[in-house]
Amino acid sequence: MKQYSFWFVVGSQFLYGPEVLETVARRAEEMAGELSKVLPFPLLYKVTAKTNQEIADVVKQANYDSSCAGIVAWCHTFSPSKMWINGLASLQKPYCHLATQYHVEIPNEEIDMDFMNLNQAAHGDREHGFIAARLRMPRKVIAGHWKNETVRRRLGDWMKAAVGVAVSREMKVMRFGDNMREVAVTEGDKVEVQAKLGWQVNTWAVGDLVREMNKVSDGEIDALMEVYQASYDIATDNLDAIRYQAREEIAIQKMMDREGCRAFSNTFQDLYGMDQLPGLASQHLMAQGYGYGGEGDWKVSAMTAILKAMGENGNGCSLFMEDYTYHLVEGREYSLGAHMLEVCPCCAAGKPRIETHPLGIGMNEKDPARLVFEGKEGDAIVVSLIDMGGRLRLICQDVHCVKPILPMPNLPVARVMWQAEPSLTTGVECWITAGGAHHTVMSYDVTAEQMKDWCAMLEIEFVHITKDTTVDSLEHDLFLSDLAWKLK
Ligand code: MN
Repeated sequence: MKQYSFWFVVGSQFLYGPEVLETVARRAEEMAGELSKVLPFPLLYKVTAKTNQEIADVVKQANYDSSCAGIVAWCHTFSPSKMWINGLASLQKPYCHLATQYHVEIPNEEIDMDFMNLNQAAHGDREHGFIAARLRMPRKVIAGHWKNETVRRRLGDWMKAAVGVAVSREMKVMRFGDNMREVAVTEGDKVEVQAKLGWQVNTWAVGDLVREMNKVSDGEIDALMEVYQASYDIATDNLDAIRYQAREEIAIQKMMDREGCRAFSNTFQDLYGMDQLPGLASQHLMAQGYGYGGEGDWKVSAMTAILKAMGENGNGCSLFMEDYTYHLVEGREYSLGAHMLEVCPCCAAGKPRIETHPLGIGMNEKDPARLVFEGKEGDAIVVSLIDMGGRLRLICQDVHCVKPILPMPNLPVARVMWQAEPSLTTGVECWITAGGAHHTVMSYDVTAEQMKDWCAMLEIEFVHITKDTTVDSLEHDLFLSDLAWKLK
């Protein structure tokens, strides 16, 4: 993962004299240093900006510097906002307005007009907020004291969402084969996605992959088999099938790394020259942070890689998921998710087992090896990016994952079970009303607020299904949203 940092830009002006400006700069440096110790990415103090030129310059540098993932702005004093217009109008990086102040308490004895002139963020941050509103800029506003735990967590969460934007803008997806025949929701406008999200989505022949597979050496396969043995329980005698998956994994990874791709898709309808659909291979690649989408679903593949990068330590608990079947017993309603083979083991409750089973769908000359496990318990979200024709919509639903309530001993794939908000049936009605796909990215560590921020930064539509959502309210919101997006 690339090393990202954020820039702290503090607004002021010349009105207060050099002593105040020195104090502002000293404090800003102190705050950035202290915050950097607890935030997921460094916050680098850049400038106490006093002129149009200084602001335009720091924005130009931020745009140019690929390690800068965003700007955090704050006005310690008043900073007249007309001097921010040229800079903000050219800003191409995510932008957060941290409405904070240096002191916690109003000091009863000490407070006088000098104190007021130095410590007037309540004043300055409103002037600063106006200009971003006036310019219709995408932004995050976080208010509170800079030492407050919630403020720090929210700023950290926003940073991760901004890194998700940086990763998105550099995203390259390797497609093996096209989309599954006749499927609509996995389609999409690749030109629009590149213009909006930065994704480069291109295709490579399955024959190229087969040729790469044939070049993989036994020594390379032996080394990866040791990794599999250390990470998973081998619950099959069919070691050849596992070695074949290792061969596929090594070849796919080499091709992706050569092209700088961090996500890939394939389809069971195009495996010409391959004995097995990559199962274990795709699962172990996902565990390393690569995105994947089945049936040619390049959108969910890129989204999986992005949410993984937004999670803990740049490879969090986010995974490609598919809704399969429901448990509709009244009062005990659950969704069961899985995939043909490819569920990432990042969410496994225990040590995954490598098993081999026949796969009835698609062309598989041999039984593919795959990881089988139960998903862990915990609050999560599921997200689906769809192409509405002329715009992209991201649908996000809050869910709670449970230990699967049934052992399902004859189900030969990894499985996750969850309860959707606000309930299974209303949740399904909302999801279907919004047009959400059967493929999703499920995440245990990226939050709905982060996805909302991510969408705001990239200026795409965000729909959130929560415990409070009703079908009526959602239909109303979608109707208004459709009108608004047509005007944009
Ligand atoms: Mn699928």
